[in-house]
Amino acid sequence: MAPSDPRQTKFVLDESRIPRAWYNIAADLPVPQSPPLHPGTRQPLGPDDLAPLFPMALIGQEVSAEREIEIPEPVRDAYRLFRPSPLFRAHRLETVLDTPAHIYYKYEGGSPAGSHKPNTAIPQAFYNKEAGVKRLATETGAGQWGSALAFAGALFDLEVKVYMVRASYDQKPYRRVLMETYGAEVVASPSLTTNYGRAVLAETPDSPGSLGMAISEAVEDAATRDDTKYALGSVLNHVLLHQTVIGQEAIEQMGMAGESPDIVIGCTGGGSNFAGLTFPFLGRNFREGAKHRIIAVEPEAAPSLTRGVYAYDFGDTGKMAPIVKMHTLGSDFIPEPIHAGGLRYHGMSPLVSLLKEHDFIEARSVHQRSTFEAGVQFARAEGILPAPEPTHAIRAAIDEALLAKEAGEAKVILFNLCGHGHFDLSSYERYLDGSLEDYEYPIEKVAAALAGLPQI
Ligand SMILES: *Cc1c(COP(=O)(O)O)cnc(C)c1O
Repeated sequence: MAPSDPRQTKFVLDESRIPRAWYNIAADLPVPQSPPLHPGTRQPLGPDDLAPLFPMALIGQEVSAEREIEIPEPVRDAYRLFRPSPLFRAHRLETVLDTPAHIYYKYEGGSPAGSHKPNTAIPQAFYNKEAGVKRLATETGAGQWGSALAFAGALFDLEVKVYMVRASYDQKPYRRVLMETYGAEVVASPSLTTNYGRAVLAETPDSPGSLGMAISEAVEDAATRDDTKYALGSVLNHVLLHQTVIGQEAIEQMGMAGESPDIVIGCTGGGSNFAGLTFPFLGRNFREGAKHRIIAVEPEAAPSLTRGVYAYDFGDTGKMAPIVKMHTLGSDFIPEPIHAGGLRYHGMSPLVSLLKEHDFIEARSVHQRSTFEAGVQFARAEGILPAPEPTHAIRAAIDEALLAKEAGEAKVILFNLCGHGHFDLSSYERYLDGSLEDYEYPIEKVAAALAGLPQI
């Protein structure tokens, strides 16, 4: 039913509407998943192979085929600090674009860490605590995941060690202070505290780092200490699973608005905020024959879904993490230091990759400057300053709204505004003073990295 006031702007749910279960898309997939492989033996991974890195509860979720997985009460209780998140109708952006399209966005930037990442940091901290773990090691790109895990570590009384990609460590010093305020220990990656980091620095002393390198350092840290496990902020099935609270709430809120989205859009770094919003809608496509168009948006400088190959590859640069089937630019590929640090990754979640490979979702890539242009246009109309990552989704939402205008169609567009940009003002400053870089697709670097794919 449409709202009685056509200007209604926020669609807000009561705390009692926080979902009680996560939605597991594995139950509805029309095509089988390819098993992850051991980086050494290259045989399918068993639960015991993952046990040094993750607690059993999360390993179970990684391979589960149950459609619904109950959210433990302490996790739901922590979710109350920021969930349900609001859904907005972008009336003012629609006016500026003079489009007949209806544009909606789900806003995840109101969480304490400023992004969707606490949706999975909290359950990961909870299950590790329950398993008796004392310390978590992780990587962070833009600092969003590190902030979220540091926050969750504070809630559940766990030590947190964060390997922060050097390029972001230098660009975003205040993210480090936020993590330290929550009690985490932060080092720039590559660092001198792991064998892998020392080896990289010996060869490339001024390495800007990458998510792939930082993952290798955190995995080495966790694998070599008994009291420590590893936590990943994206890519893995259990991470995407935890994010589905976003889409479940959005389905209910779109119902309050009396609409159903024709197009659902998310930016993709490792795929988790995209999956969180879109998988519950995709589940409707699979189970009920709904026809939501689903679009993943990625940077031209790291376009794994649109330009990568679908193949088995290492999740990290040091080749210590499991080998998974995904869209990849090669694990040796180090993206340019784009400002959307969360999208600087050579690979993509295996689930998102599988869905793209079988055309259940679409993907497109966009240039850095055009994403900031969209972000500034959005901020001037709607007020919220988006993080550089969701400006990719905003670019696509605006482009679709302009296409709808050309066609004279009142399309309903929903996108995920997965984080705010308050720590990214130096990036906006570069855009505003005209010095923001624009990177082309690095075809030769990718070709070189793809030559190093494992032969499987
Ligand atoms: C981490 C992050 C991303 C990229 O990760 P996904 O798993 O693709 O969501 C995008 N946006 C923000 C705000 C992030 O913090």
